[in-house]
Amino acid sequence: MAIIINGKELAAKVRADVKEEVEELKKRNIHPRLAVIMVGNDSSSAVYVRNKSKACNETGIEFEEFLLEESTTKEQLLNLIEKLNLRKDIHGILLQSPIPKHLDIKEAFDAINYRKDVDGFHPINVGKLAIGEDCFISCTPAGVMKMLAEYQIQTEGKQAVVIGRSNIVGKPLAQCLLNKNATVTICHSKTKDLKEITKRADILVAALGKPKFVTEDMVKEGAVVIDVGINRNEEGKLVGDVDFEEVIKKASYITPVPGGVGPMTIAMLMTNVVKAAKMLEN
Ligand code: NAD
Repeated sequence: MAIIINGKELAAKVRADVKEEVEELKKRNIHPRLAVIMVGNDSSSAVYVRNKSKACNETGIEFEEFLLEESTTKEQLLNLIEKLNLRKDIHGILLQSPIPKHLDIKEAFDAINYRKDVDGFHPINVGKLAIGEDCFISCTPAGVMKMLAEYQIQTEGKQAVVIGRSNIVGKPLAQCLLNKNATVTICHSKTKDLKEITKRADILVAALGKPKFVTEDMVKEGAVVIDVGINRNEEGKLVGDVDFEEVIKKASYITPVPGGVGPMTIAMLMTNVVKAAKMLEN
């Protein structure tokens, strides 16, 4: 039976550490502040933004929300980003996706000052990650790496397989694992003989968004299995990309859904805001 990696508990510990750091910064008159922009009325986005605001509250990070109407123009959005880029009291800027279709999200992300890009989506941060320089790392991959480190799971020399190649999860996570000396394979929707590849993995990450896609026969005995997926099953219950009940019997470590990678993502966002505040104020 695998050890369950408790993301909920670990995220609480990360938030407690952030809180302490924020208190220290406030003594130096530095007040870490996150600006969150939401355009339109996407209901899931509203939940995510609320959770981020709660985490800020808990850690003492100041939170400023900008709710823009669905009809917002490109110029209005870019003007707001520019204003926030220039504001000295704002350390982190986050644009909640999705945004309405008439707006270009890539252009908007690129407009954010990369020093305030606490989501780690800006090409400069992506490039810095690729060449192994200090940068903002996308929060979900950062959360996975924190889990591996806290549970003292070795990456060096290990075969790591990442299923999924999105710009926010799969690719940056593969890069993080490579930077930590794992031998990394990225699989995606066009990969052939997927099972043959996943069965070789010492560390297997599922980040594809398909409920219970990773079954026991795809996993090597003793593998570390990280489930990034967040899906709803027919009963509306949250499930991951891994068949948890079966895979737990074969893995050495496994993350549950919920209570695994999910809570780590927001905790790492808090860490990134503190990092931004320190960088900008120094
Ligand atoms: P995405 O849809 O952008 O990317 C999915 C990737 O999976 C693609 O690269 C695609 O090639 C690959 N894929 C799809 N079907 C496949 C198949 N049959 N075999 C192999 N590869 C396949 O998704 P994303 O934004 O990377 O998110 C992935 C999952 O992680 C989703 O369930 C999402 O909800 C979840 N997610 C969780 C968090 C968190 O905080 N835990 C954060 C972001 C995303």
